[in-house]
Amino acid sequence: MLHNEYMDMQFYIMFYPIVFFYGICIGSFLNVVIYRLPRGESLIKRASHCTTCGAKIRVVDIIPIVSWLMLKGKCHSCGEKISPRYPIVEALNGIIYVITFTVMDFNLKSLIYCLFFSVLICLGFIDWDTMEMDLRMLGLIVVLALPVIILPMLPQYYNMPEFLQYEDGGLWAHLIGLVCVSVPFFLIGEISGMIIRKRNPESEIRRGIELGDTLIMAAGGLLIGWKACVVSAFFGIIIAAVMGLVSKLKTGESRFAFGPALAVGLFFGGLFGDAIMDWYIAILTYNPYEMLQ
Ligand SMILES: [Zn+2]
Repeated sequence: MLHNEYMDMQFYIMFYPIVFFYGICIGSFLNVVIYRLPRGESLIKRASHCTTCGAKIRVVDIIPIVSWLMLKGKCHSCGEKISPRYPIVEALNGIIYVITFTVMDFNLKSLIYCLFFSVLICLGFIDWDTMEMDLRMLGLIVVLALPVIILPMLPQYYNMPEFLQYEDGGLWAHLIGLVCVSVPFFLIGEISGMIIRKRNPESEIRRGIELGDTLIMAAGGLLIGWKACVVSAFFGIIIAAVMGLVSKLKTGESRFAFGPALAVGLFFGGLFGDAIMDWYIAILTYNPYEMLQ
């Protein structure tokens, strides 16, 4: 919860609508990223256009969520259906920003986590569409991780403004986070790959866990630290198992993108992973006889 100098009712009332508004506006840009990045199109050059008839999107049509509802999900020019995914991504990003600032303090770290979760939305949807992890987006996570790691290491850290002071596990938590899930994932990928090739040399599937899925856990783990990363992997694997089961029942296809499940896992792990892990460690190390000794 917000418990620093901003904790005052008026601030709350003003703060969350603004956060949500920023969230959906950035969500609108995420739609552009999700659509254009895999197609190799520029993110900034051309104005948005209808993907069917090419009609330019009018100024009144770019208001996040509202425009889609006003247009009843159809292009103003050709009447072609506009995917409900657009307003869903916008709303999702807005809601995630509000949740993030509610769970974490309002500081640089929570701000960076918001951007991290936006990157996860892009990675998840692009992987869902193309079965590829976008390397530029993964690189962005590493860039986001650097200030979070470096800032608390500065000698004058405790004289800095409150906005720049946040709880952090320290350098080792981040470095272990980089390898604690990614290395096991890499090894499972290698070994399962050898088994798959041995059984069926013509198989389309090259490895059990793709390199992209290994890299998202490496970059994500570097940012959120080892405790949160382990919990994220746990969530991700459970979500993937459910997705795999549903996809098998619906289409009979057992191959599906692991990335979106890991992205959702990293979101929950990033927010609650440290607390869950501390709680778990406390249970494991709890000694009921301690008081009697
Ligand atoms: Zn159109």
